[in-house]
Amino acid sequence: MVIGSGICGLTAARVLTEHFDTVTLLERDTLPDGDERRRGTPQARHVHGLLARGAGHLEDLFPGLRTELAQAGAPVYDHGAGARTRVWAGSLPTVTVGLEVQTAHRDALEGALRRRVAALEKVAVRDATAVTGLHVSEDGTRAEGVSVTPASGGSTEVIEADLVVDASGRNSALPDWLTAAGYPAPKETVVDGGLAYATRTVQVEREQPAQGLQQMNQPPDRPGGVYASHTGGGRWTVTLFGAGGQHPPVDDEGWLACAESLGNEDLDRLLEQSTPVSGVFQYKATANRWRAYAGMRRWPERLVALGDSATAFNPVFGQGMTIAVGQCVALGEALAARGGDPAGLGRQTQRMVARSARIPWLMATSDDLVWSYAMRGARLPLHWRATAWYKQRLLHLATRDPGVVKTFMRVYHMLASPAAMAAPRIMSRVLFAAKSPSPASAARPVAAPRGS
Ligand SMILES: Cc1cc2nc3c(=O)[nH]c(=O)nc-3n(C[C@H](O)[C@H](O)[C@H](O)COP(=O)(O)OP(=O)(O)OC[C@H]3O[C@@H](n4cnc5c(N)ncnc54)[C@H](O)[C@@H]3O)c2cc1C
Repeated sequence: MVIGSGICGLTAARVLTEHFDTVTLLERDTLPDGDERRRGTPQARHVHGLLARGAGHLEDLFPGLRTELAQAGAPVYDHGAGARTRVWAGSLPTVTVGLEVQTAHRDALEGALRRRVAALEKVAVRDATAVTGLHVSEDGTRAEGVSVTPASGGSTEVIEADLVVDASGRNSALPDWLTAAGYPAPKETVVDGGLAYATRTVQVEREQPAQGLQQMNQPPDRPGGVYASHTGGGRWTVTLFGAGGQHPPVDDEGWLACAESLGNEDLDRLLEQSTPVSGVFQYKATANRWRAYAGMRRWPERLVALGDSATAFNPVFGQGMTIAVGQCVALGEALAARGGDPAGLGRQTQRMVARSARIPWLMATSDDLVWSYAMRGARLPLHWRATAWYKQRLLHLATRDPGVVKTFMRVYHMLASPAAMAAPRIMSRVLFAAKSPSPASAARPVAAPRGS
């Protein structure tokens, strides 16, 4: 049984069909037939990039997915050659990095996965059904199912299962369900960089030189950035973001002024040559949150929490879907190692889930810790200052060195360990290169006047 039919739940359901005769997928929302948006995944209107690692896993599990999305219009391009990326020190060189990305709209990706999962013989989708509690065995050692209520109200029913997978996202009520069933609550770590998104969809009238634009922010001096993506047919999702509590405005004028203040000519051109087809929508619940299920003294067998339910990330690095999908793959491997028997599956799997999220967590929280210290006016501990210093210089080097860009992109797409950024060839250049300016002192790019 899987709770939640977001990217994680859909992937988990697909993985479980290899080990169980019936997989019940429970979803609180009424699911659309097409790619329409729904309440349970409000993040879907904001820009979503799928990293190469996650895309590879999805293609393995759903062969032909990439072609299907491409036929529906989702662009495919080399991330280095087809997108423009800016960091605090300038633009990264436009070079082929050998990493193809596909920028399907998140609604389109989820819609395609949903149709494929619903078509699987072993999967029974029950939508408009809210899970309200966890059922455990009388001796309290294992999960045996969940209680559900129709989303429209009505009487509660218990559904039994050999394995319960919670994929109900960032707001999962699993900690409450566990305590109600007599288990302790998990420890939670939250790192909040005070980041918010402000997103609008635009229809572009002329072909753009790139399919994606990315301008990263840089703590603690440059809170703003943009992440814009062509999702096909001239539709672009344009997300402005601001960290450290400095959020982009959501009114038309303020949003445009904020876009202009980034001094990004590619973004200026895109907005000049496009028409808004949506209002501006804000998203503020972006804190990194780690629920330490793996460290709990007691944990029911046959229960696994995956995706945002266990570890939710600041979305700016685009890691969430890839991590969730990777955890589903790992669950499949754990089941395969047991010949498909879910007995004993639980804490050990949760440890594996935690391991898979550790490096992405470090990546996502390293900037956010700086922001959170800056917001409190506190001095950053020395080791974090050293990490931030190294990253700043590395990004400066990347603006001049295509080799560094390639390594950076492989790390970004989770195809290489961050240790690759400290390989001797790179580290020596970062440490001994001519002094690089600091983000605070570097000249900010000057925005071209509108209409020039
Ligand atoms: C603004 C924003 C931008 C993002 N951008 C990116 C990006 O660029 N790249 C990337 O990889 N990731 C991104 N993410 C993260 C990404 O959306 C998620 O990490 C990823 O989709 C995995 O989510 P999930 O399936 O675990 O949870 P969700 O997508 O939240 O799905 C949870 C599902 O569970 C259902 N549900 C909840 N409670 C119940 C219940 N009690 N009973 C039944 N059903 C229930 C919900 O309706 C929903 O369908 C972003 C996130 C945000 C917030």
